[in-house]
Amino acid sequence: MRINSIKYKLNYNPAKYDYKTMMYVKENVKYENFTKAKEHQWECEKCKCTFSKYPDLKEHKTEKHSY
Ligand SMILES: [Zn+2]
Repeated sequence: MRINSIKYKLNYNPAKYDYKTMMYVKENVKYENFTKAKEHQWECEKCKCTFSKYPDLKEHKTEKHSY
């Protein structure tokens, strides 16, 4: 799978581990484990929908925003 580096920067938004709460945090959203956090690591910059896999995000963009 080839990923365009610009798109990667734009859409890849993984959660960060917060040692205080022992949860994965992304902006104001908390995930109790890494698997859950990973499901939301790809973010559509237009509507803020999240996806676990880049191809899913790409498909979403094609359908909803006709890239
Ligand atoms: Zn979208």
